[in-house]
Amino acid sequence: MIGPELKFKDQVVIVTGSSSGIGRACALHFANNGAHVVVNYSSNAEAGQKVLNEILSNGGSGILVKADVSKEDEVKAMFSEAVNRFGKLDVLISNAGLQQDSSFLEMTLEQWQKVIDVNLTGQFLCCRAAAQQFVAQQEATKETSHSELAIGKIVLMSSVHDVIPWAGHVNYAASKGGIMMFMKSISQELAPYKIRVNSVSPGAIKTPINKEVWSDPTKYQGLLELIPYKRIGTPQDVAKAVAWLASDDSDYVNGETLYIDGGMTLYPEFADNG
Ligand code: NAD
Repeated sequence: MIGPELKFKDQVVIVTGSSSGIGRACALHFANNGAHVVVNYSSNAEAGQKVLNEILSNGGSGILVKADVSKEDEVKAMFSEAVNRFGKLDVLISNAGLQQDSSFLEMTLEQWQKVIDVNLTGQFLCCRAAAQQFVAQQEATKETSHSELAIGKIVLMSSVHDVIPWAGHVNYAASKGGIMMFMKSISQELAPYKIRVNSVSPGAIKTPINKEVWSDPTKYQGLLELIPYKRIGTPQDVAKAVAWLASDDSDYVNGETLYIDGGMTLYPEFADNG
């Protein structure tokens, strides 16, 4: 009998911030498709362990690694642990992110810095570590490998707020806007090494990050006004798109941002002629 196609069989995938929300869905999706998954958390060990247990009880493979993505030494240690355990790296899903909201006039330097440190510097540290590992692997196998396919894939978690301005969240919007040029620039630089770098920009996805909006019926109705497709997204909606970008099916896609937003970026207020 032919079994289901396991798109990531024996590939090693790090998913940052995978103790909840979109990262959790990605970790489960890759594990269900045959990958060895590094489940990363920064503070909630119990939640991370729960995700790993789910992977293992489904017959998957993975490890749990604590690392704050904004700390260089912790990021380096996480990548070393992954490679020591599984012998290589194939995919980085650089997902970890947070919000610290405030009006611009009252935003503290601490709030600004925290979001930039995790959402943007965290991406720099993780993507650099992944790229260094991919290049080292390529050097080690270049005599024996004749594959035309990418040797390493990176997917960055951005947001529709890399193009939609967001008052009251300027630290978050600046971090996501920064991710876009960061992603395009490293994609240009890394493509000759056969490393593919792309990002996904989710719209409103039902996770703990925006619980305050979807758990309040009035705010939820207001949110639906912004989504032509008239439903909030699920973490699985994002995980499936992330997996496509990390798979060989998208091998000729480089430096792109895929919007997963039910049409949120389509200027919905113009739907009835503006
Ligand atoms: P979430 O709060 O459920 O998940 C965020 C994850 O990041 C958590 O696991 C958290 O522990 C982790 N994290 C936070 N700081 C960290 C750090 N310093 N080091 C390591 N991990 C850290 O929210 P989510 O919605 O799943 O968010 C995941 C990503 O998706 C974020 O980058 C977020 O900006 C992005 N995003 C979410 C939405 C949405 O509507 N939910 C929309 C667009 C983009």
